Amino acid sequence: MLHGAGGTAMHSLIKDYILKYFGGNLEVEVPLEALDDAAAIGDIVLKSDSHAVKPLFFPGGDIGCIAVAGTVNDIAVLGAEPYALACGFILEEGLSLSAFEKILTSMRRMCRMAGVNIVTGDTKVVEKGSLGGCVINTSGIGRRTDALERNLRVVRRFRDDFRGRWILDSNLRKGDKIILSGTIGDHGIAVLSAQEGLDFGGDIKSDVKPLNRMIQGLLGEVGGVVAMKDPTRGGLADALNEISEKSNVGILIYEDKIPIRDSVQAACEMLGLDPLEIGNEGKVVIGVVREAAEDALEFLRSTEEGRDAEIIGEATDEFSGVAMKTMIGGKRIINRPVGDPVPRIC
Ligand code: MG
Repeated sequence: MLHGAGGTAMHSLIKDYILKYFGGNLEVEVPLEALDDAAAIGDIVLKSDSHAVKPLFFPGGDIGCIAVAGTVNDIAVLGAEPYALACGFILEEGLSLSAFEKILTSMRRMCRMAGVNIVTGDTKVVEKGSLGGCVINTSGIGRRTDALERNLRVVRRFRDDFRGRWILDSNLRKGDKIILSGTIGDHGIAVLSAQEGLDFGGDIKSDVKPLNRMIQGLLGEVGGVVAMKDPTRGGLADALNEISEKSNVGILIYEDKIPIRDSVQAACEMLGLDPLEIGNEGKVVIGVVREAAEDALEFLRSTEEGRDAEIIGEATDEFSGVAMKTMIGGKRIINRPVGDPVPRIC
C-alpha cells in the first residue's frame, strides 16, 4: 500500500521500474522524466490520473469530485488551462445506481466549476472484490493562455536568465517566496474520519475543488509565478521536498505561517499524525519571485479558493532540502514522508 501513497516508496517504484521502460522521449518539452504534475507536448499539456478513494463518499465530497478536480489541478499547476477530459469508469458489481448517479452529479458540478467538458470515455464492470465500489480514471488536456504568457513576462522582468515556457517544479531559485493557498490536512483527515468511522467534531471536511480559475487569475492579474504543485498524497512535506530537489535549492518555512484549522490540528495530535504529511485536494504551493509575492498574496486572498493563503517561506542557498522554523524558535528538518499516513485518499 505504501507504493501508492505518494512518498519515497512510490517515487522509487516509478523511478526504478516505470521510467526504465517508458523514459527517454526527450523531444517532449516536459517529458516523463521530469515527473512533474503533467507533461507538455508542444503547446498542449496532458495528464492522466486514476482515482481509488476509499470510501466513495466522505465529508465534503466524493470520488466524482476528486476525479475531476485532481486532473484539472495537475494541468493547472503547469500554467495551462484545462479544457477537455476523458473519463474511464471501472464499476464493481453491486454498486448501486443511486450511488453512481450521485458520483456523476458531483463530476458534472466540478466540470462546471472548472469550465471543462468530458468528451470521451469508457465503462467497464468487474466482479465484486476490493475496488470499494468503483475506480475512475480521468485524463485531460490543457492549453497555453494569454495569462500564462503575461506571467512569464513578469518573471523575466526580475530574472533575465529565465527561459522556461511552463511553470515547473524545477524553476525555483534562491530568494523566491513560497505561498500556500490555504489550510492543510482537511482532505486527508476528512477521508480518514469516514474510513475509521471517527467523529473529530468541528468542521472537518474535504477541501476538494478545481483551482484552475484562481490560478489563471493569479497568472494574468499578478504574474511572477515560477513553480507550482498541488500538495496531494504526502502533503506539504512531499510537495516542498519535490520542488527543493528538482530546483536544487533549499526551502525554509515558518511553522507559525502555515494555515491549519484547529480541528484538523487537534485530530492530528490525537492520532499522532503530522499535518505536513496529510494530503490535500484543493490547495496549491506556489513559488513566486520575491518582488511579486505581496501582490500575489493579496490577489489569492481576494478569491474564494485562496482566502486563507499565506506566504509560508522562501528559497535559500544556506542549506539543501526543507527546514521549518518552529513556533518555539527551533529548526526542524522536513523529510519526504515514506508515504501518506492515510491510505487511499484519492
Ligand atoms: Mg499534482
